[in-house]
Formats: sequence, C-alpha cells, structure tokens
Amino acid sequence: MSSIVLSVVVPMYNEEAVIPALVERLRPALDQLAVGYEVVAVDDGSADRTAQLLFEHGRTWPELRLVKLRHNSGHQAALTAGLQRSRGDWVVSIDADLQDPPETIAEMLRAAREQGLDVVYGVRSDRSTDSFFKRNTAGAYYRLMRRMVGADVPSQAGDFRLLSREVVDVLKALPERTPVYRLLVPSLGFSSGTVPYARERRAAGETKYPLRKMVALAWDSAANFSAAPLRVATWLGAFAFVACLALMIFGVVVWANGTVIPGWTSLFIAVLLLSAVQLICLGLLGEYVARIYKTVQDRPTFHIGFDSASQETTIPQQRSAATAR
Ligand code: UDP
Ligand code: MG
Repeated sequence: MSSIVLSVVVPMYNEEAVIPALVERLRPALDQLAVGYEVVAVDDGSADRTAQLLFEHGRTWPELRLVKLRHNSGHQAALTAGLQRSRGDWVVSIDADLQDPPETIAEMLRAAREQGLDVVYGVRSDRSTDSFFKRNTAGAYYRLMRRMVGADVPSQAGDFRLLSREVVDVLKALPERTPVYRLLVPSLGFSSGTVPYARERRAAGETKYPLRKMVALAWDSAANFSAAPLRVATWLGAFAFVACLALMIFGVVVWANGTVIPGWTSLFIAVLLLSAVQLICLGLLGEYVARIYKTVQDRPTFHIGFDSASQETTIPQQRSAATAR
C-alpha cells in the first residue's frame, strides 16, 4: 500500500479565476479526511496563468501536484493524464470550477470503503443552477447514451467519481484513443454505487465547454460505443432504394401510357436526394476510417511537459498500450 490513499484529479483549462476559491475549499475538505492524499492538478495547456498559480499554491500546499500538458488536449485527455499519473489507492476526478462540491469526496470514500465498492458516481440530484440549454442537452445526451451503451450508465453522472486503484489500472491498460470515461467506466462492470449531490454554480470564470466541444464529446460517445451511425447509412440506402423502385415503376407506367412528362423536376430531385444520401454515407464511413487511422498511428493524444512530482521538465510518452494516451 502506498502512503497516498487518495488522488484527486482536477483537469483545468484557463481556470486562473477559480483557483483561489478552489484551493480555499478543496484543501480543508481533503485535510479533514485525515488520510495521505495528493491533488493532481492537470493544466490542459492553458493560455492564462493557471500553471503559475498552481505552482505558487504548491509551495504552501505540498500535496498539490502540477501536471502540465503542452497543449490543450481536451477534458477527457486531461483526465487520462491525471489517471495515469495518480498514485493513490483511490482516485477521484472533479471539475475545477467547484460545481462538484469537494465535501462530497468524503462521502464517496466512505461509501466505497464501507460497501466494498470499486466505483462511486457522484450523481447530480439538482441541476437547477445549470442553464436551461445545458440541462436539456444533458438530458437528451444521457437518454441517448443509455440506449447505445446499455441501461447501466447512471444518468446525470458526469466526471465526478471515485475509482479504486484496480479500476484505474484496467483503464490505463485499455487501448482506447478517445475515452469517454462516463461511459467507459460503467461498461467495465465493476461494483458501483452512487452519492447524490447538488450541482452548484460555477464559482468563477466562464464554461470551458462551448457547443463545439459538447458536440465533439457527444460524437465520441456515440462512435466509441456503437456502430449504429454506420447502420443509419444502410437504412438511408435501403429507404432510397425502395423510393427509387417506386419511381421506376411510376416511370415505366407513364411511358407505357404514352404520356411522357418533361421530367426535369423529378430528375433533379432524384439526383439531389441520392447524392445527398451517398455523401452522408461516405462521410459516416470516413469518420470511422479516421478513427481506425488514428488508432493505427498510435500517437499519444497528449504530451506531459512538466510534473511537479517528478521534477523532470520533459517526460517522454511511451507508446505501449499500458502507458500511451
Ligand atoms: N476542461 C479541460 N480542458 C478543456 C475543457 C475543459 O481540462 O478543453 C476542464 C475545465 O477546466 C473544468 C472541467 O474540464 O475543470 C469541466 O469544464 P467546465 O466546467 O467548463 O464545463 P461545464 O461544467 O460548463 O460543462
Ligand atoms: Mg463546470
């Protein structure tokens, strides 16, 4: 057993505004646990003073560890970096903006230890502080994902969760390129429980999840767990084929009756429709081919430039499945 019982992974992208409030609340919450812990703050290539502030706070808070990625690699990649570097027997991931209350970590740890669980999800019991748009898009996302992945994805469980070392080791060994942990973790089938919490307001700064990143996460989620989008192509093709068959019969009947219509509009529509369907199918194929290509290339999806725990400025990423990503 290592002396570090708990690792708290906090991905951060341009979060300088929230760091003082985060330190002020996270530190007492963790000190109270009375176990050895480390905070793995992953700076996801921020353009602001995030890394500097973390480094400065680290002088007075020795448990605060800074892992700096060389460029913005995205929330899930930052989580991966944090999981890889974490050393605790338990690993909690939590957002930097204090939307997930740090005090809940104690409950999670207690639930895991008392009930012998490997995974404890923080489940948002109250999202009233989230925007109308966020609540509704999130609702649709979880409904869709439960259908695609299976019923065991807890709804309203984001990336605030506790994992045992065993789960982290399994995750590290997976050859996944674009992991979506909120789906990947349930799919592993470890014993799990939930702890409800009220989603708070972002303590400071702006959301780092613009629509573009939300769409990217939704697409990664869908494509990681399902070939259903590819089947959409098949269905579109089948539908177009039946429609064309009907049109052909119609054409022959009209020709046999001798009333040949000028036909520009119907031709125009048929050509447009069919080329649209073909382009959609090609695009879908392309998306999956791109994923295969990325997997074959096997490039790390992030580069760690600095880790205050190892004091090396450059830590080369290895390519093996166990350590890459
Ligand atoms: N984040 C990150 N990299 C990114 C985007 C976000 O590490 O490219 C972090 C961000 O700093 C925060 C967490 O992911 O700690 C969740 O982001 P945010 O709170 O902005 O998302 P929201 O709560 O609005 O969905
Ligand atoms: Mg947030």
